[in-house]
Amino acid sequence: MITSKTLAIVNPVSGGVDKDPYVKKVKEVFENVHIIYTKENDNEVFIKKEVSDFSPENIVILGGDGSLKLLVDFFGSTYNYYILPLGSANGMCNELNIPKNPELAISSLKGFTIRGINTLKLNDTNCIHLADFGFNADIIKDFSDTRGMWGYFLLYLKNLYKFKSYKFIIDVGDKKIAIKSVMLVIANGKFYGTGLEVNPLGSIDDNLVDIIVFKPFSLFKIPFLLIKMLFGKVTTMSFVKHYQIQECTITNPDNAPFQIDGEPQKNTSKVHICVNKNKVNIYSGNQ
Ligand SMILES: [Mg+2]
Repeated sequence: MITSKTLAIVNPVSGGVDKDPYVKKVKEVFENVHIIYTKENDNEVFIKKEVSDFSPENIVILGGDGSLKLLVDFFGSTYNYYILPLGSANGMCNELNIPKNPELAISSLKGFTIRGINTLKLNDTNCIHLADFGFNADIIKDFSDTRGMWGYFLLYLKNLYKFKSYKFIIDVGDKKIAIKSVMLVIANGKFYGTGLEVNPLGSIDDNLVDIIVFKPFSLFKIPFLLIKMLFGKVTTMSFVKHYQIQECTITNPDNAPFQIDGEPQKNTSKVHICVNKNKVNIYSGNQ
């Protein structure tokens, strides 16, 4: 049993999974646990009140990246988090070596250790995982659920006609980089939810943000690109540029579509990017 005072937050609808069996297991693992369920609306007032009334040491999230992001928005780095992969998107579990199978994740909890991870601030919005301009953002804006690697692959094939390049200016203070790109990724993590590694040189705790720019390339290179992504070698490709920085501003004169952690964004002609000062503590599997 884990004895620390723990609040468990359950998103009853995320991932389309029945959470009851997992709630039961959580009660078996945590001795002093208070369970609450997120609502459709007005979560901010409700969750903040429950958390302040109970004042837990740790918060367990039975949900996915969306729930973690919500808590980071509400509480920043105040609490330590456990994540059980029960959301529609569970990309952070990849980053933190948390088993994708929720049962396995629960039975492994006791062996987890706390790791401080960075989060990013993109204009006024927190980013915990990945953001991008261009092709991917254009496609996902019409789809809210995850469909696994093959689902996405087919989606991409169907939408290849949207493959086009946009102008960007990356201003890193002492220099301005003007570049054309079909997809420009702002990365805190390494992996897309599909398991493809878009940011192999990045680290989630180095206080740096990675910018990966895909310059225009022939569609015939997509199979090679996917293979390189599967093997963590994408930045070795001639049309991929990688920058590691502390802070920058990206100007988007062509109004390329933009998404943050799977959420389409509006008014993104200029995006200021930096690493949030305080790390967020999350229990993670062995590195
Ligand atoms: Mg980093």
